[in-house]
Amino acid sequence: GLREEYRHAAGQHLALRRRVDGTEIRRTYSICSPAPDPAGEGPSSLRVGVRLVDGGAFSTYALKEIGVGDELEVMTPAGRFTLEPAPGLYAAIVGGSGITPVLSIVATLLAREPEARFCLIRSDRTAASTMFLEEVADLKDRYPQRLQLVTVLSREEQQAGLPSGRLDQERLTGLLPALLPVERVAGWFLCGPYGLVQG
Ligand SMILES: Cc1cc2nc3c(=O)[nH]c(=O)nc-3n(C[C@H](O)[C@H](O)[C@H](O)COP(=O)(O)OP(=O)(O)OC[C@H]3O[C@@H](n4cnc5c(N)ncnc54)[C@H](O)[C@@H]3O)c2cc1C
Repeated sequence: GLREEYRHAAGQHLALRRRVDGTEIRRTYSICSPAPDPAGEGPSSLRVGVRLVDGGAFSTYALKEIGVGDELEVMTPAGRFTLEPAPGLYAAIVGGSGITPVLSIVATLLAREPEARFCLIRSDRTAASTMFLEEVADLKDRYPQRLQLVTVLSREEQQAGLPSGRLDQERLTGLLPALLPVERVAGWFLCGPYGLVQG
């Protein structure tokens, strides 16, 4: 019955609420599942990806306590960090859990718009701590020509790919023109820790 109210656009987020002993904990999580087809009546799902934060009230509860069958209080999707699928080249620079909304944006765009391409530059500490590693690899397999995936690990060397280290302004200035025609990018998406998106 609530399908219309909970219909989301790629990149939107949800507020989840937990009440414990009269106090309320409310946190925001980006929806990682692709947006439902606007014309279709097909099934749609709302998925979020929560990273465990040391000492974090909600993330600890989400990862250590929530089980199948539990009920959660979830507000309707919100946010303007979205992309309406259209032809063109798009690019994102993401760090850590910043991949979550961008995963939805990339999957929705490439599925709905055959004339769209995406360059995804992601920065993480190590491969083991990288969220949605397999989901992103699956997208790359599905759209090898239209998805360009660039991974930088700040604390680990990779066998292939870019040398380790943080993605800062100096590094991006040298890297970006070598990766894509920067002036032709129709839309940029930046999502991650303050240091990365401000750089
Ligand atoms: C638009 C948006 C989208 C987001 N999407 C995602 C997402 O997709 N995935 C995701 O994992 N996160 C996402 N976040 C972050 C998320 O909302 C939470 O901030 C995160 O999960 C931490 O919440 P928490 O309750 O676990 O931690 P909190 O309890 O809020 O604690 C955060 C940190 O502060 C410390 N701390 C808490 N209280 C104190 C205190 N009194 N004194 C000192 N230190 C303290 C904790 O130890 C911890 O290190 C998003 C945030 C926004 C705004």
